[in-house]
Amino acid sequence: MKNLSRRYFIKQSVILATSFNLPISNYKLLNTKKMNNKKNFDVIIIGGSYSGLAAAMALGRALRKVLVIDSEKPCNRQTPYSHNFLTQDGKKPKEIATLAKKQVSMYNTVEFYNGLATNGSKMKNGFEIQTLSGDIFRATKLIFATGIKDEIPNIKGFAECWGISVLHCPYCHGYEVRNETTAILGNGEYGFEFSKLISNWTKDLTLFTNGKSTLTAEQTATLEKHYIIIVEKEIGELEHINGQLQNINFKDGSKDNIDAIYTRLAFEQHCKIPEQLGCELTEDGYIKIDAAHKTTIKGIFASGDNVTRMRTVANAVSMGTATGMMVNKELIDESF
Ligand SMILES: Cc1cc2nc3c(=O)[nH]c(=O)nc-3n(C[C@H](O)[C@H](O)[C@H](O)COP(=O)(O)OP(=O)(O)OC[C@H]3O[C@@H](n4cnc5c(N)ncnc54)[C@H](O)[C@@H]3O)c2cc1C
Repeated sequence: MKNLSRRYFIKQSVILATSFNLPISNYKLLNTKKMNNKKNFDVIIIGGSYSGLAAAMALGRALRKVLVIDSEKPCNRQTPYSHNFLTQDGKKPKEIATLAKKQVSMYNTVEFYNGLATNGSKMKNGFEIQTLSGDIFRATKLIFATGIKDEIPNIKGFAECWGISVLHCPYCHGYEVRNETTAILGNGEYGFEFSKLISNWTKDLTLFTNGKSTLTAEQTATLEKHYIIIVEKEIGELEHINGQLQNINFKDGSKDNIDAIYTRLAFEQHCKIPEQLGCELTEDGYIKIDAAHKTTIKGIFASGDNVTRMRTVANAVSMGTATGMMVNKELIDESF
């Protein structure tokens, strides 16, 4: 026992000494690392926003050779300020991502490629990813942290207001528009549930069904009991100044003065490569994963908005970290 602890002590001292001798100068602070001839990686992460960068950090710290491919189109890019992520509350979305990328760049086994991944194929011992510019990279494992693409409805002014005064989530933006004259754009079960949720932040609330209401009589009565107005008129335009909503203009020529709208948009996967490689989607359109973030195709993992409706930066980061750890574990299990 005594011998064992002595050996253990010596081993730990060697590890400690080696780690103190880490070549700190090797940790280069680069925004975008120029690609060199190495085209083979342990892991390629497609999507270099919050979730992808969190996975890259976990893997970089696990000494893995990682390539992050990113087309720089995160879903929140039009939002002026991001909220509800500890230590970064109220920062610009880009500011958070830039700091994250700077920190991940410290790990010199992680490289970055700015561009769009367009194709993926299964090879004998891994995968090959091709980009729009024709570059080809190979890796043993893939992580898709590619997010989702919101389908903007064909209402004039909607796109300009998205993320500024047309909001997807009260936990991200509800505090900033608390007690304001607020609308829900929705119908049926979803319109009812969203109205109920938002009544926590404001009592000045109208549900716009944009056409005939599909609420049940009971849902209508419940909303009315809580002084939530239901309007069935069809919307023609969102009148705004630089994305800040002024009025909802209806097709019948009338208008309503509204400060903020909440709505949930239809979406599609931002990147089609997982489906192309055979990854199954859920009924709701998310990439199907297990508790270890493995998709239905061996060696392919997914993380962030593309797998869940719990859509927040904090959740994307948390899932990215977990996915990086799970991928590293699988690599160890396969080689140990
Ligand atoms: C309008 C809006 C406002 C929001 N506000 C907040 C907020 O205030 N607080 C909060 O916590 N959350 C907010 N969210 C949610 C938050 O932005 C998301 O949960 C988070 O961005 C998800 O991170 P992600 O990394 O999974 O995906 P994303 O951030 O969407 O990033 C996906 C990345 O993958 C890249 N990509 C996709 N396909 C490819 C490809 N084929 N090749 C290369 N790269 C590719 C994209 O370019 C993008 O950079 C908001 C969302 C929206 C839509």
